Amino acid sequence: MSAPLKLSVRAASLQPSLTLAIAAKAKQLRAEGRDICSLSAGEPDFDTPAFIRQAAAAALEAGHTRYGPVAGEPALRAAIAEKLRQENQVPATAEEVLVTNGGKQALYNLFQVLLNPGDEVVIPSPCWLSYPPMAELAGANVRLLPTEASSGFRFTPGELEAAITPATRLLVLNTPSNPTGMVLSRGELEAIAEVLRRHQQVAVVCDEIYEALLAPGHRHHSLAALAPDLAGRLFIANGFAKGWAMTGWRVGWLQGPAPVVAAACALQSQSTSNVCTFAQYGALAALEGSRDSVREMAARFNERRQLLFDGLAALPGVKLVAPEGAFYAFPDVSAWGLDSMTLCNRLLDEEGLALVPGAAFGDDRCVRLSCAASNATILDGLERLNALRAKL
Ligand code: GLU
Repeated sequence: MSAPLKLSVRAASLQPSLTLAIAAKAKQLRAEGRDICSLSAGEPDFDTPAFIRQAAAAALEAGHTRYGPVAGEPALRAAIAEKLRQENQVPATAEEVLVTNGGKQALYNLFQVLLNPGDEVVIPSPCWLSYPPMAELAGANVRLLPTEASSGFRFTPGELEAAITPATRLLVLNTPSNPTGMVLSRGELEAIAEVLRRHQQVAVVCDEIYEALLAPGHRHHSLAALAPDLAGRLFIANGFAKGWAMTGWRVGWLQGPAPVVAAACALQSQSTSNVCTFAQYGALAALEGSRDSVREMAARFNERRQLLFDGLAALPGVKLVAPEGAFYAFPDVSAWGLDSMTLCNRLLDEEGLALVPGAAFGDDRCVRLSCAASNATILDGLERLNALRAKL
């Protein structure tokens, strides 16, 4: 007999990602034969475009199966830098780009190499649920900057200024936002840059993973393009998962000041090494090829986002901000009288509908619905939601 192993302090308080857990549970229940409608996953339901799959298959056949440079295939790093220059007006070089295991690892690596215990990370909330644990895993303290549905989940420059302290080391911006769909406008980003000029100790990482998914009338702007004077402390995390429907490929990137990116690369060399070599060739084809498939998928998401919005807006007791991008809706359903966890558990148990509770993103009044599903699935989900509502 031996005593049960004790987890490290950092692991003991770590919760698994609820978005991944709920999506996996929905799949498992379906495999067990239950009639499940899932609007939980933040994952395009489209297949990766054929030309990308073919490029990866060709790379596999051609023998690109060995270790590659930890920072990524040189051609891919150069193509990412070129994309940033052409599409985002960010004057990036290949040396400033690290190819990572999805956008998630770009963020994780950055937090690990920038943050010390006691440092503060400012995160506008509601926020993607992995940012706070990533900051805490680096020993940092999270300072949420709360935003409200009544103000479109937006924060003012004054509110940002008030959240910054001498200990603040990093600000996390996510535009378009998961879960709220809020998109920071050019003016808002310029106002954020103005605040940052007064706080030189604060670096910023912009998570731009949803940049291709914008509702009509909205544009994506990179802070790094609008505030070149701040280039020494601005980072971009992005990847191929959402725009190119490549979630399982796990190819993303971190871009920013070369010395920090080099440190993130050193961390990667001691942890995961290079991203799957032949997957990187698929990603390279994605960047070198036409953006038609990205645009087609984005257009479909726009129709579906509208369908979801209209359906939710028609339900009694729902307060909803029109999402401007990404593929989520984040309605406030607190008028139905349940906390978001209880509501989501009852939805799954009684109606077979999988949603993600808003509490996981920092707002217990809301639930997150994904419109990365067919029109029929979205309409089915809305019916199931209404069926539970009618019982409450
Ligand atoms: N980011 C997506 C979501 O929020 C995928 C799952 C995850 O990594 O959190 O659903």
